[in-house]
Amino acid sequence: MTLVGRRLTAEAFRWGRAASGAVQRAMDPPSSWSLRVEAPSKRQVSKNGMHWVFLGCPGVGKGTYASRLASLLSIPHIAMGDLVRQELSQPSEASKKLIYAMSQGKLLPDQVVVSLLSTRLEKGALEGEKGFILDGFPRNTTQAEILEQVTEIDLVVNLKLREDVVISKCLGRRICSQCKGNFNVANIDVEGSDGGPRISMPPLLPPPSCATKMTIRADDTEEVVRERLRIYAEESKPVEDFYRLRGNLFDFEVAGGIPETWPRLLDALNLSEKDCTHQKVSV
Ligand SMILES: [Zn+2]
Repeated sequence: MTLVGRRLTAEAFRWGRAASGAVQRAMDPPSSWSLRVEAPSKRQVSKNGMHWVFLGCPGVGKGTYASRLASLLSIPHIAMGDLVRQELSQPSEASKKLIYAMSQGKLLPDQVVVSLLSTRLEKGALEGEKGFILDGFPRNTTQAEILEQVTEIDLVVNLKLREDVVISKCLGRRICSQCKGNFNVANIDVEGSDGGPRISMPPLLPPPSCATKMTIRADDTEEVVRERLRIYAEESKPVEDFYRLRGNLFDFEVAGGIPETWPRLLDALNLSEKDCTHQKVSV
């Protein structure tokens, strides 16, 4: 384990969780290894609520699905990007380190992001939160190892979407300069590859009042999008492997827009709106 890992392990202990179980689990392979996780069932809800992680490349809609699911299950959607932005809005040792890393174009230091997350989880536990959906964390296996010692993770939902479709989607993004509304002009309708289902995502067009005020984010160029995806693929592969080995990874192919994908996702997770109401009561 790295020095950072050891320091944060101490922090995990301070946080009051018995890390020994997690460490043991990390060393022993699960008794029933499988390459693919079966659709998750209620047993993947630990007694402390749902502890889920959402993985997925930029542009896959991860934030949207994680946030919808969290609100349906009445658990917080904890997006690492939000925690970082919040920290940056106030002067602190952590924000100094974050600003320095960003100015150097470096990845945010594991120690700082894990500490932000630990603080957030601790606050949630004190307030009686039952579970969470993490979004944008862990970004690498060091973070995944530390997370495992801070809290249990029941399920890792890995949202997947073909690269050419992600690129078209990212290039189709538009923002209204007046109301800041997000729209998408890409009209995606392509044959599925390898016998997969046809991928169809209609555009999300602006109302007439916004149509003349559309702007494109400066970093939504094909070159930048491809580079973001390349970095993501490089970073995420080891994280996916980490959770696959633990039997926690659940791959889910996004093959349509939100109206088609949302019910499919609920179905794949063995959830229904009705169940969720029930779980809201039982957790
Ligand atoms: Zn507008």
